[in-house]
Amino acid sequence: NQTLIKPHVAVLPSVGLGHLIPLFEFAKRLVVHHGIRVSLLVITTNEPSAAKDQFLCSPNFPPDLHIVKLPPVDVDQVPRDDKLILTRLCVITEESLRFLKSVLVALGKPKALVTDLFSTRAFDVCNELSIPAYLFSTTSVAFSAFMLYLPKLDSEVECEFVELPEPIQVPGCTPVRIEDLVDQARNRKIDEYKWFFHHISRLPLASGIFLNSWEDLEPGSINSIEENPFFKQIPAPPVYPIGPLIKQEETLSTADFECLEWLDKQPPDSVIFMSFGSGGTLSVEQQTELAWGLELSQQRFIWVVRKPTDAAGAGTFFNSGSEVNDPKAYLPEGFLNRTQGVGLVVPSWAPQVSILGHPSTGGFLSHCGWNSSLESIAHGVPMIAWPLYAEQRMNAALLVEEIGVAVRLKVEVGQTIFGREEIERVVRMVMEGEEGKVIRSRVKELKESAANALGSNGSSYYMLSSVAQKWKTDLSL
Ligand code: UDP
Repeated sequence: NQTLIKPHVAVLPSVGLGHLIPLFEFAKRLVVHHGIRVSLLVITTNEPSAAKDQFLCSPNFPPDLHIVKLPPVDVDQVPRDDKLILTRLCVITEESLRFLKSVLVALGKPKALVTDLFSTRAFDVCNELSIPAYLFSTTSVAFSAFMLYLPKLDSEVECEFVELPEPIQVPGCTPVRIEDLVDQARNRKIDEYKWFFHHISRLPLASGIFLNSWEDLEPGSINSIEENPFFKQIPAPPVYPIGPLIKQEETLSTADFECLEWLDKQPPDSVIFMSFGSGGTLSVEQQTELAWGLELSQQRFIWVVRKPTDAAGAGTFFNSGSEVNDPKAYLPEGFLNRTQGVGLVVPSWAPQVSILGHPSTGGFLSHCGWNSSLESIAHGVPMIAWPLYAEQRMNAALLVEEIGVAVRLKVEVGQTIFGREEIERVVRMVMEGEEGKVIRSRVKELKESAANALGSNGSSYYMLSSVAQKWKTDLSL
Protein backbone atom coordinates (compact mmCIF):
# COMPACT_ATOMS: atom_id res chain seq x y z
CA ASN A 1 0.00 0.00 0.00
CA GLN A 2 1.56 3.28 -1.28
CA THR A 3 -0.01 5.36 1.51
CA LEU A 4 1.79 3.41 4.20
CA ILE A 5 5.21 4.23 2.87
CA LYS A 6 4.58 7.90 2.13
CA PRO A 7 6.21 10.18 4.69
CA HIS A 8 3.72 11.81 7.03
CA VAL A 9 4.06 15.53 7.79
CA ALA A 10 1.94 17.72 10.11
CA VAL A 11 1.03 21.25 9.04
CA LEU A 12 -0.18 23.61 11.75
CA PRO A 13 -1.60 27.06 10.90
CA SER A 14 -2.19 29.63 13.67
CA VAL A 15 -5.67 31.10 14.19
CA GLY A 16 -7.04 33.23 11.34
CA LEU A 17 -7.83 32.67 7.68
CA GLY A 18 -4.73 34.58 6.62
CA HIS A 19 -2.75 31.64 8.05
CA LEU A 20 -5.11 28.76 7.34
CA ILE A 21 -5.44 29.55 3.61
CA PRO A 22 -1.75 29.52 2.60
CA LEU A 23 -0.82 26.61 4.90
CA PHE A 24 -3.69 24.60 3.47
CA GLU A 25 -2.38 25.28 -0.05
CA PHE A 26 1.08 24.27 1.11
CA ALA A 27 -0.31 21.02 2.53
CA LYS A 28 -2.18 20.34 -0.71
CA ARG A 29 0.93 20.87 -2.78
CA LEU A 30 2.93 18.47 -0.64
CA VAL A 31 0.25 15.84 -1.15
CA VAL A 32 -0.51 16.39 -4.84
CA HIS A 33 2.95 17.09 -6.23
CA HIS A 34 5.43 15.62 -3.80
CA GLY A 35 4.06 12.32 -2.54
CA ILE A 36 3.67 13.34 1.12
CA ARG A 37 0.81 12.43 3.44
CA VAL A 38 -0.32 15.45 5.47
CA SER A 39 -2.30 15.99 8.65
CA LEU A 40 -3.54 19.59 8.70
CA LEU A 41 -3.96 20.48 12.37
CA VAL A 42 -6.69 23.09 12.69
CA ILE A 43 -7.09 25.28 15.76
CA THR A 44 -10.76 25.60 16.66
CA THR A 45 -12.70 27.76 19.08
CA ASN A 46 -16.21 27.77 20.47
CA GLU A 47 -17.00 30.79 18.25
CA PRO A 48 -18.57 30.03 14.85
CA SER A 49 -16.82 31.29 11.72
CA ALA A 50 -18.86 30.96 8.55
CA ALA A 51 -15.93 31.79 6.27
CA LYS A 52 -13.70 29.18 7.91
CA ASP A 53 -16.39 26.50 7.86
CA GLN A 54 -17.04 27.22 4.21
CA PHE A 55 -13.34 26.91 3.53
CA LEU A 56 -12.93 23.62 5.38
CA CYS A 57 -15.91 21.96 3.76
CA SER A 58 -14.36 21.98 0.27
CA PRO A 59 -15.36 18.76 -1.46
CA ASN A 60 -12.06 18.59 -3.33
CA PHE A 61 -9.61 17.58 -0.63
CA PRO A 62 -7.07 15.20 -2.10
CA PRO A 63 -6.81 11.80 -0.43
CA ASP A 64 -3.80 11.84 1.92
CA LEU A 65 -4.73 15.28 3.23
CA HIS A 66 -6.46 14.86 6.56
CA ILE A 67 -7.97 17.58 8.67
CA VAL A 68 -7.38 17.07 12.37
CA LYS A 69 -9.26 19.56 14.53
CA LEU A 70 -7.58 20.44 17.83
CA PRO A 71 -9.97 20.58 20.82
CA PRO A 72 -11.88 23.91 20.80
CA VAL A 73 -10.55 26.82 22.85
CA ASP A 74 -13.14 28.67 24.89
CA VAL A 75 -12.54 32.20 23.61
CA ASP A 76 -14.86 33.70 26.21
CA GLN A 77 -12.02 33.13 28.66
CA VAL A 78 -9.58 35.18 26.53
CA PRO A 79 -9.69 38.97 27.06
CA ARG A 80 -11.09 40.75 24.02
CA ASP A 81 -9.69 44.08 22.91
CA ASP A 82 -10.02 45.10 19.27
CA LYS A 83 -6.71 46.96 19.49
CA LEU A 84 -4.80 43.90 20.75
CA ILE A 85 -5.45 41.53 17.88
CA LEU A 86 -2.13 39.74 17.96
CA THR A 87 -2.22 39.23 21.72
CA ARG A 88 -5.59 37.55 21.47
CA LEU A 89 -4.48 35.42 18.55
CA CYS A 90 -1.36 34.31 20.43
CA VAL A 91 -3.24 33.50 23.64
CA ILE A 92 -5.78 31.38 21.75
CA THR A 93 -3.00 29.62 19.88
CA GLU A 94 -0.99 28.87 23.07
CA GLU A 95 -4.10 27.52 24.70
CA SER A 96 -4.85 25.26 21.76
CA LEU A 97 -1.29 23.95 21.57
CA ARG A 98 -1.55 22.49 25.07
CA PHE A 99 -2.99 19.51 23.21
CA LEU A 100 -0.35 19.38 20.51
CA LYS A 101 1.92 16.80 22.09
CA SER A 102 -0.81 14.23 22.62
CA VAL A 103 -2.16 14.85 19.11
CA LEU A 104 1.26 14.33 17.51
CA VAL A 105 1.81 11.17 19.53
CA ALA A 106 -1.63 9.87 18.59
CA LEU A 107 -0.81 10.56 14.93
CA GLY A 108 2.28 8.39 15.26
CA LYS A 109 4.89 11.15 15.34
CA PRO A 110 5.01 12.76 11.88
CA LYS A 111 8.33 13.07 10.03
CA ALA A 112 8.25 16.85 10.33
CA LEU A 113 5.95 19.66 11.40
CA VAL A 114 5.46 22.93 9.53
CA THR A 115 3.89 25.84 11.35
CA ASP A 116 3.70 29.62 11.07
CA LEU A 117 4.97 32.52 13.09
CA PHE A 118 2.51 32.58 15.97
CA SER A 119 2.73 28.90 16.86
CA THR A 120 6.39 28.69 17.83
CA ARG A 121 5.25 26.89 21.01
CA ALA A 122 5.17 23.93 18.61
CA PHE A 123 8.98 24.12 18.35
CA ASP A 124 9.27 23.08 22.02
CA VAL A 125 6.79 20.25 21.62
CA CYS A 126 8.61 19.00 18.52
CA ASN A 127 11.91 19.26 20.32
CA GLU A 128 10.60 16.98 23.08
CA LEU A 129 9.41 14.50 20.48
CA SER A 130 12.52 14.83 18.26
CA ILE A 131 10.46 16.00 15.29
CA PRO A 132 12.10 18.68 13.07
CA ALA A 133 9.95 21.82 13.05
CA TYR A 134 9.86 24.17 10.05
CA LEU A 135 8.38 27.60 9.71
CA PHE A 136 6.12 28.76 6.89
CA SER A 137 6.34 32.54 6.65
CA THR A 138 2.94 33.81 5.56
CA THR A 139 4.35 37.22 4.70
CA SER A 140 6.88 38.75 2.30
CA VAL A 141 10.58 37.89 2.25
CA ALA A 142 11.30 41.54 3.01
CA PHE A 143 9.25 41.28 6.19
CA SER A 144 10.76 37.90 7.07
CA ALA A 145 14.22 39.51 6.83
CA PHE A 146 12.98 42.35 9.04
CA MET A 147 11.82 39.84 11.64
CA LEU A 148 15.15 38.02 11.62
CA TYR A 149 16.88 41.37 12.13
CA LEU A 150 14.58 42.67 14.89
CA PRO A 151 16.35 40.99 17.88
CA LYS A 152 19.55 42.84 16.96
CA LEU A 153 17.69 46.12 16.58
CA ASP A 154 15.94 45.51 19.89
CA SER A 155 19.22 44.96 21.69
CA GLU A 156 20.87 48.06 20.23
CA VAL A 157 18.15 50.69 20.32
CA GLU A 158 17.07 52.22 23.60
CA CYS A 159 14.28 54.52 22.48
CA GLU A 160 11.08 53.44 20.82
CA PHE A 161 11.71 52.50 17.18
CA VAL A 162 9.17 55.13 16.13
CA GLU A 163 11.51 57.76 17.59
CA LEU A 164 14.40 56.74 15.34
CA PRO A 165 15.46 59.62 13.08
CA GLU A 166 16.30 57.43 10.07
CA PRO A 167 14.66 54.51 8.27
CA ILE A 168 15.57 51.07 9.60
CA GLN A 169 18.25 49.41 7.52
CA VAL A 170 17.80 45.65 7.47
CA PRO A 171 21.16 44.35 6.12
CA GLY A 172 21.05 44.03 2.34
CA CYS A 173 17.36 45.02 2.12
CA THR A 174 15.39 48.15 1.26
CA PRO A 175 15.25 50.51 4.29
CA VAL A 176 11.96 50.53 6.22
CA ARG A 177 10.48 54.01 6.70
CA ILE A 178 9.48 54.63 10.30
CA GLU A 179 5.92 55.55 9.34
CA ASP A 180 5.56 52.18 7.60
CA LEU A 181 6.84 50.18 10.59
CA VAL A 182 4.72 47.17 11.57
CA ASP A 183 2.13 48.08 14.25
CA GLN A 184 3.43 45.51 16.72
CA ALA A 185 6.84 47.22 16.85
CA ARG A 186 5.57 50.75 17.46
CA ASN A 187 5.37 50.47 21.22
CA ARG A 188 7.79 48.13 22.93
CA LYS A 189 6.12 48.33 26.31
CA ILE A 190 2.88 46.60 25.47
CA ASP A 191 1.87 42.95 25.08
CA GLU A 192 1.45 43.23 21.32
CA TYR A 193 5.21 43.80 20.99
CA LYS A 194 6.10 41.23 23.63
CA TRP A 195 4.21 38.47 21.86
CA PHE A 196 5.56 39.50 18.48
CA PHE A 197 9.09 39.67 19.81
CA HIS A 198 8.76 36.36 21.63
CA HIS A 199 7.86 34.57 18.41
CA ILE A 200 10.27 36.29 16.05
CA SER A 201 13.22 35.70 18.42
CA ARG A 202 12.55 31.99 18.06
CA LEU A 203 12.74 31.93 14.26
CA PRO A 204 16.36 30.69 14.27
CA LEU A 205 15.14 27.52 16.03
CA ALA A 206 13.34 26.39 12.87
CA SER A 207 14.91 23.64 10.77
CA GLY A 208 14.09 25.72 7.71
CA ILE A 209 11.87 28.61 6.63
CA PHE A 210 9.45 28.29 3.72
CA LEU A 211 8.84 31.68 2.11
CA ASN A 212 5.59 32.45 0.31
CA SER A 213 7.33 34.33 -2.47
CA TRP A 214 9.56 33.50 -5.39
CA GLU A 215 12.90 34.44 -6.89
CA ASP A 216 11.65 36.93 -9.48
CA LEU A 217 9.32 38.71 -7.07
CA GLU A 218 11.78 39.55 -4.31
CA PRO A 219 15.26 38.76 -5.63
CA GLY A 220 17.02 41.32 -3.42
CA SER A 221 15.59 40.20 -0.08
CA ILE A 222 16.00 36.50 -0.90
CA ASN A 223 19.60 37.03 -1.87
CA SER A 224 20.20 39.01 1.27
CA ILE A 225 18.89 36.31 3.66
CA GLU A 226 20.89 33.70 1.79
CA GLU A 227 24.14 35.61 1.35
CA ASN A 228 24.45 38.62 3.63
CA PRO A 229 27.03 38.02 6.39
CA PHE A 230 24.57 39.30 9.00
CA PHE A 231 22.06 36.52 8.32
CA LYS A 232 24.85 33.94 8.05
CA GLN A 233 26.07 34.82 11.48
CA ILE A 234 22.65 34.59 13.26
CA PRO A 235 22.62 31.90 11.77
CA ALA A 236 19.32 32.11 9.91
CA PRO A 237 17.84 28.70 9.03
CA PRO A 238 17.94 27.71 5.35
CA VAL A 239 15.19 29.48 3.40
CA TYR A 240 13.04 27.97 0.67
CA PRO A 241 11.08 30.40 -1.55
CA ILE A 242 8.19 28.19 -2.68
CA GLY A 243 5.43 30.63 -3.62
CA PRO A 244 3.13 32.06 -4.60
CA LEU A 245 0.93 29.56 -2.77
CA ILE A 246 -2.55 31.03 -3.02
CA LYS A 247 -6.06 29.72 -2.75
CA GLN A 248 -6.78 27.68 -5.87
CA GLU A 249 -10.49 27.12 -5.65
CA GLU A 250 -13.41 28.37 -3.62
CA THR A 251 -16.58 26.74 -2.39
CA LEU A 252 -19.20 29.10 -3.77
CA SER A 253 -22.44 30.10 -2.06
CA THR A 254 -25.51 31.27 -3.97
CA ALA A 255 -24.53 34.89 -3.31
CA ASP A 256 -21.04 34.16 -4.67
CA PHE A 257 -22.51 32.75 -7.88
CA GLU A 258 -24.67 35.86 -8.29
CA CYS A 259 -21.63 38.04 -7.87
CA LEU A 260 -19.70 36.12 -10.54
CA GLU A 261 -22.69 36.18 -12.88
CA TRP A 262 -22.80 39.95 -12.55
CA LEU A 263 -19.10 40.06 -13.37
CA ASP A 264 -19.70 37.92 -16.48
CA LYS A 265 -21.83 40.76 -17.88
CA GLN A 266 -19.14 43.45 -17.53
CA PRO A 267 -16.51 44.39 -20.16
CA PRO A 268 -12.94 43.05 -19.79
CA ASP A 269 -10.69 44.77 -17.20
CA SER A 270 -13.49 47.20 -16.31
CA VAL A 271 -14.30 46.37 -12.67
CA ILE A 272 -12.37 47.43 -9.59
CA PHE A 273 -12.58 44.94 -6.72
CA MET A 274 -12.32 46.43 -3.24
CA SER A 275 -11.71 44.40 -0.13
CA PHE A 276 -9.80 44.75 3.13
CA GLY A 277 -8.98 41.13 3.84
CA SER A 278 -10.53 38.79 6.33
CA GLY A 279 -10.94 41.41 9.02
CA GLY A 280 -10.17 44.97 7.87
CA THR A 281 -12.64 47.69 8.74
CA LEU A 282 -12.80 51.46 8.14
CA SER A 283 -14.04 54.29 10.33
CA VAL A 284 -17.46 55.75 9.58
CA GLU A 285 -15.88 58.88 8.14
CA GLN A 286 -13.39 56.97 5.98
CA GLN A 287 -15.99 54.56 4.67
CA THR A 288 -18.18 57.50 3.67
CA GLU A 289 -15.29 59.15 1.78
CA LEU A 290 -14.58 55.87 0.02
CA ALA A 291 -18.19 55.53 -1.09
CA TRP A 292 -18.17 59.09 -2.48
CA GLY A 293 -14.77 58.69 -4.13
CA LEU A 294 -15.90 55.53 -5.81
CA GLU A 295 -19.10 57.11 -7.02
CA LEU A 296 -17.20 60.12 -8.39
CA SER A 297 -14.78 57.84 -10.26
CA GLN A 298 -17.72 56.39 -12.23
CA GLN A 299 -15.96 53.04 -12.47
CA ARG A 300 -17.64 49.66 -12.18
CA PHE A 301 -16.92 48.01 -8.85
CA ILE A 302 -17.41 45.13 -6.44
CA TRP A 303 -17.00 46.29 -2.86
CA VAL A 304 -16.87 43.97 0.14
CA VAL A 305 -18.24 46.09 2.99
CA ARG A 306 -18.14 45.65 6.74
CA LYS A 307 -19.80 47.65 9.45
CA PRO A 308 -17.50 50.63 10.10
CA THR A 309 -15.56 50.77 13.40
CA ASP A 310 -12.64 52.69 14.81
CA ALA A 311 -10.35 49.65 15.15
CA ALA A 312 -8.83 48.86 11.76
CA GLY A 313 -8.78 45.11 12.21
CA ALA A 314 -12.00 44.71 14.13
CA GLY A 315 -13.30 41.87 12.02
CA THR A 316 -10.06 39.90 12.26
CA PHE A 317 -10.20 36.28 13.36
CA PHE A 318 -13.40 36.70 15.22
CA ASN A 319 -15.98 37.51 12.59
CA SER A 320 -18.68 35.34 13.93
CA GLY A 321 -20.61 35.08 10.71
CA SER A 322 -23.82 35.50 12.62
CA GLU A 323 -23.68 39.28 13.01
CA VAL A 324 -26.16 41.16 10.85
CA ASN A 325 -24.39 43.28 8.23
CA ASP A 326 -26.79 45.60 6.44
CA PRO A 327 -24.90 48.05 4.17
CA LYS A 328 -27.97 50.30 3.90
CA ALA A 329 -27.55 51.10 7.56
CA TYR A 330 -24.12 52.69 7.16
CA LEU A 331 -23.39 53.60 3.51
CA PRO A 332 -24.23 57.18 2.43
CA GLU A 333 -27.89 57.83 1.86
CA GLY A 334 -28.89 56.83 -1.68
CA PHE A 335 -25.47 55.30 -2.55
CA LEU A 336 -26.89 51.87 -3.31
CA ASN A 337 -29.59 53.31 -5.59
CA ARG A 338 -27.30 55.68 -7.44
CA THR A 339 -24.71 52.98 -8.13
CA GLN A 340 -27.17 50.24 -9.05
CA GLY A 341 -25.99 48.47 -12.18
CA VAL A 342 -22.55 50.11 -11.97
CA GLY A 343 -21.42 48.37 -8.86
CA LEU A 344 -22.10 45.55 -6.49
CA VAL A 345 -21.90 45.88 -2.74
CA VAL A 346 -21.21 42.55 -1.04
CA PRO A 347 -21.60 42.32 2.72
CA SER A 348 -18.68 40.79 4.69
CA TRP A 349 -17.15 38.23 2.33
CA ALA A 350 -16.72 37.67 -1.41
CA PRO A 351 -15.10 34.91 -3.48
CA GLN A 352 -11.91 36.93 -3.87
CA VAL A 353 -9.82 34.50 -5.89
CA SER A 354 -12.63 33.84 -8.38
CA ILE A 355 -13.13 37.59 -8.74
CA LEU A 356 -9.43 38.33 -9.21
CA GLY A 357 -9.21 35.54 -11.78
CA HIS A 358 -12.19 36.85 -13.76
CA PRO A 359 -11.41 38.67 -17.04
CA SER A 360 -13.73 41.58 -16.17
CA THR A 361 -11.69 42.49 -13.08
CA GLY A 362 -9.19 45.23 -13.90
CA GLY A 363 -8.03 46.52 -10.53
CA PHE A 364 -7.90 45.64 -6.85
CA LEU A 365 -8.12 48.16 -4.03
CA SER A 366 -6.59 46.14 -1.21
CA HIS A 367 -5.40 46.37 2.38
CA CYS A 368 -2.18 44.69 1.18
CA GLY A 369 -2.39 41.56 3.32
CA TRP A 370 0.25 39.28 1.87
CA ASN A 371 -2.21 36.64 0.63
CA SER A 372 -4.29 39.25 -1.15
CA SER A 373 -1.17 40.77 -2.68
CA LEU A 374 0.00 37.41 -4.01
CA GLU A 375 -3.48 36.58 -5.31
CA SER A 376 -3.59 39.87 -7.19
CA ILE A 377 -0.14 39.41 -8.71
CA ALA A 378 -0.73 35.77 -9.62
CA HIS A 379 -3.86 36.84 -11.52
CA GLY A 380 -2.21 39.85 -13.15
CA VAL A 381 -4.39 42.50 -11.47
CA PRO A 382 -2.84 45.94 -10.65
CA MET A 383 -3.48 47.24 -7.16
CA ILE A 384 -4.34 50.33 -5.17
CA ALA A 385 -2.55 50.01 -1.85
CA TRP A 386 -4.70 50.90 1.15
CA PRO A 387 -2.84 49.42 4.12
CA LEU A 388 -4.62 49.32 7.47
CA TYR A 389 -2.72 47.49 10.20
CA ALA A 390 -0.05 44.90 11.11
CA GLU A 391 2.74 44.83 8.46
CA GLN A 392 0.47 46.08 5.68
CA ARG A 393 2.19 49.49 5.28
CA MET A 394 5.49 47.67 4.75
CA ASN A 395 3.81 45.45 2.15
CA ALA A 396 2.36 48.54 0.45
CA ALA A 397 5.82 50.14 0.20
CA LEU A 398 7.19 46.92 -1.28
CA LEU A 399 4.37 46.59 -3.83
CA VAL A 400 4.61 50.21 -4.94
CA GLU A 401 8.31 51.02 -4.76
CA GLU A 402 10.10 47.74 -5.28
CA ILE A 403 7.79 45.42 -7.19
CA GLY A 404 5.94 48.12 -9.13
CA VAL A 405 2.44 46.63 -9.23
CA ALA A 406 0.53 49.13 -7.11
CA VAL A 407 -0.10 52.81 -6.49
CA ARG A 408 -0.58 54.25 -3.04
CA LEU A 409 -3.14 56.79 -1.90
CA LYS A 410 -1.93 60.00 -0.31
CA VAL A 411 -3.35 61.71 2.74
CA GLU A 412 -3.64 65.48 2.31
CA VAL A 413 -1.64 67.67 4.69
CA GLY A 414 -3.54 68.21 7.92
CA GLN A 415 -5.85 65.24 7.25
CA THR A 416 -5.88 61.78 8.81
CA ILE A 417 -8.01 60.01 6.23
CA PHE A 418 -8.04 59.68 2.45
CA GLY A 419 -10.41 62.21 0.91
CA ARG A 420 -12.95 61.44 -1.83
CA GLU A 421 -11.06 63.41 -4.53
CA GLU A 422 -7.88 61.45 -3.86
CA ILE A 423 -9.80 58.18 -3.99
CA GLU A 424 -11.44 59.21 -7.25
CA ARG A 425 -8.05 60.24 -8.71
CA VAL A 426 -6.31 56.98 -7.86
CA VAL A 427 -9.19 54.73 -8.93
CA ARG A 428 -9.33 56.50 -12.31
CA MET A 429 -5.54 56.38 -12.61
CA VAL A 430 -5.40 52.61 -12.18
CA MET A 431 -8.47 51.82 -14.28
CA GLU A 432 -7.95 54.28 -17.14
CA GLY A 433 -4.73 56.29 -16.71
CA GLU A 434 -1.19 55.99 -18.09
CA GLU A 435 0.30 54.98 -14.73
CA GLY A 436 -2.32 52.24 -14.60
CA LYS A 437 -1.04 50.90 -17.93
CA VAL A 438 2.52 50.73 -16.62
CA ILE A 439 1.67 48.76 -13.48
CA ARG A 440 -0.76 46.58 -15.42
CA SER A 441 1.96 45.52 -17.81
CA ARG A 442 4.38 44.86 -14.93
CA VAL A 443 1.84 42.74 -13.05
CA LYS A 444 1.07 40.72 -16.19
CA GLU A 445 4.78 39.92 -16.48
CA LEU A 446 4.83 38.74 -12.88
CA LYS A 447 1.70 36.65 -13.42
CA GLU A 448 3.65 34.67 -15.98
CA SER A 449 6.71 34.48 -13.80
CA ALA A 450 4.58 33.18 -10.88
CA ALA A 451 3.15 30.40 -13.05
CA ASN A 452 6.64 29.48 -14.23
CA ALA A 453 8.03 29.38 -10.68
CA LEU A 454 5.34 26.90 -9.66
CA GLY A 455 5.57 24.77 -12.81
CA SER A 456 7.54 21.53 -12.73
CA ASN A 457 10.67 23.27 -14.05
CA GLY A 458 10.28 26.30 -11.81
CA SER A 459 12.33 27.54 -8.86
CA SER A 460 9.50 27.27 -6.28
CA TYR A 461 8.65 23.73 -7.37
CA TYR A 462 12.28 22.75 -7.16
CA MET A 463 12.71 24.20 -3.65
CA LEU A 464 9.72 22.35 -2.21
CA SER A 465 10.69 19.20 -3.98
CA SER A 466 14.19 19.32 -2.46
CA VAL A 467 12.76 19.41 1.08
CA ALA A 468 10.16 16.73 0.33
CA GLN A 469 12.96 14.58 -1.04
CA LYS A 470 14.85 15.01 2.20
CA TRP A 471 11.83 13.89 4.19
CA LYS A 472 11.46 10.86 1.95
CA THR A 473 15.11 9.90 2.16
CA ASP A 474 15.18 10.25 5.95
CA LEU A 475 12.33 7.76 6.03
CA SER A 476 14.41 5.06 4.48
CA LEU A 477 17.21 5.45 7.03
N1 UDP B 1 -10.71 36.70 1.42
C1 UDP B 1 -11.77 36.25 0.64
N2 UDP B 1 -12.89 37.03 0.60
C2 UDP B 1 -13.02 38.21 1.26
C3 UDP B 1 -11.92 38.65 2.04
C4 UDP B 1 -10.77 37.88 2.08
O1 UDP B 1 -11.72 35.18 0.03
O2 UDP B 1 -14.05 38.84 1.16
C5 UDP B 1 -9.48 35.87 1.48
C6 UDP B 1 -8.44 36.38 0.52
O3 UDP B 1 -8.63 35.79 -0.75
C7 UDP B 1 -7.14 35.97 1.20
C8 UDP B 1 -7.49 36.01 2.68
O4 UDP B 1 -8.91 35.97 2.77
O5 UDP B 1 -6.79 34.66 0.82
C9 UDP B 1 -6.99 37.25 3.38
O6 UDP B 1 -5.63 37.13 3.61
P1 UDP B 1 -4.66 38.39 3.62
O7 UDP B 1 -3.30 37.89 3.98
O8 UDP B 1 -4.76 39.13 2.36
O9 UDP B 1 -5.21 39.34 4.72
P2 UDP B 1 -5.63 39.16 6.25
O10 UDP B 1 -7.03 38.71 6.24
O11 UDP B 1 -4.69 38.15 6.87
O12 UDP B 1 -5.47 40.53 6.78
